[in-house]
Amino acid sequence: MDLSTIDKQSVWHPYTQMQDWQMTRNPVIASGEGFYLIDKNRRKYLDGIASMWCNVWGQGKREIINAMIKQLNLLQHSTLFGLANQPSIVLAQKLLKLAMGMDKVFFSDNGSTAIEVAMKMAVQYWHNKGQNNKTKFISLENGYHGDTLGCMSLGYLEKYFRPYKGLLFQAHRIPSPLLYGSGYQNTEKLMQDCLEQTEKTLKKYNSECCALIMESGAQIAGGIIIYPKDFQSKISQLCKKYDVLLILDEIATGFGRLGSMVQYVAENSLPDIVCFGKALTAGYFPLAVTLTTKKIFDAFLGDYSANKHLYHGHTFTGHPVGCATAIANLNLYKKSKLIKQIRHNSDYLRKRLSEFRESSIVEDIRYKGLLAGIELAKNGRPIRLLKNKRRINYFIMQESLKMGVFLRPLGNIMLVIPPLAIDRKNLETLLDTQLKIIKKIEKDI
Ligand SMILES: *Cc1c(COP(=O)(O)O)cnc(C)c1O
Repeated sequence: MDLSTIDKQSVWHPYTQMQDWQMTRNPVIASGEGFYLIDKNRRKYLDGIASMWCNVWGQGKREIINAMIKQLNLLQHSTLFGLANQPSIVLAQKLLKLAMGMDKVFFSDNGSTAIEVAMKMAVQYWHNKGQNNKTKFISLENGYHGDTLGCMSLGYLEKYFRPYKGLLFQAHRIPSPLLYGSGYQNTEKLMQDCLEQTEKTLKKYNSECCALIMESGAQIAGGIIIYPKDFQSKISQLCKKYDVLLILDEIATGFGRLGSMVQYVAENSLPDIVCFGKALTAGYFPLAVTLTTKKIFDAFLGDYSANKHLYHGHTFTGHPVGCATAIANLNLYKKSKLIKQIRHNSDYLRKRLSEFRESSIVEDIRYKGLLAGIELAKNGRPIRLLKNKRRINYFIMQESLKMGVFLRPLGNIMLVIPPLAIDRKNLETLLDTQLKIIKKIEKDI
């Protein structure tokens, strides 16, 4: 392929103001090597955002690629409509061993579809039990669950989704426990009020609500909000008390991002339905799963004519190459003791973050595991524009690329979200670069 003839203007990029695309001169990535992405001019960039939060081992992990090739040679795709395939069964068994309390696995292609499946399961569970009125959802402010219509309704971020509001359904919203900017003095009081609000909502609306949905462990796209200890566990208990199902979205936080293999187990909570995606295949293949309990599954059993089956299925559901990829990936977690390595690197991250705190434009840092959000603000106001009206997010992206790193912040929040298996030296490079950029911003506002 002759890369010099590629016209970058033919592709419409996600979450991108295309009018600025030529100006920002984003590189065309042609290959990868370890934790680096390499462009057509052979320039290397450290992947500072884990290829949109999903990459685990960097590029070129031989064990996974070999498993993918082996599966491709055997069977490229065969459907789960009416047939089974081996990799999907093996993967399902593996996942059920990890996900305590879960009994069944439903396959789809991406996080958003996994959430849509969870929503349909929850609504139809009550329908099949003769309760047609339980069709509404409760979700958290600042939650994010994907970009399809159902997902946007649940995780409604005004800034992103306003144009589509007319298409979306209303969900009951409960507060998210973000201390920064809340006016609360400490987390305990804030959490107590959030939980009180949650209980009020559950009490008032439980007869019309099928489920409460929340991200597991932390909210990411909504601004890196780490739940205080016991927050999720208390909500899990409240859902049981008021007979509302709990759906946990572990798409971004499952498989190690917060330092645990399965986050809901670490949070001492128990969902009725849980979704995984992103790191499931190490970022090598689009695949996601929705897991649920025998209790939910059994409500879908019955005489054919009762029409109780789950009417959901995608063309590529249970794709054998995707499943083989995930199996190889999960095997590697164990073999290389990845969770332990993440925890070591997390300690290092914590120590380094104190250097960030010294900056006059860093007003809050929220972190856990291999995730941190650094709030760039002045006098409580987020920094959006620099001198010459340059946008802070473009500035961060462009400066990082110049320094051989790829960063993509959430507006004024700088993210530390590297590939999960990043080595100490590259993590050091990543943090050094982020510190340098913050110092540049200090001088430029
Ligand atoms: C990324 C993400 C999704 C959506 O997954 P896609 O694969 O992008 O559709 C859902 N929930 C959370 C928490 C996510 O981070």
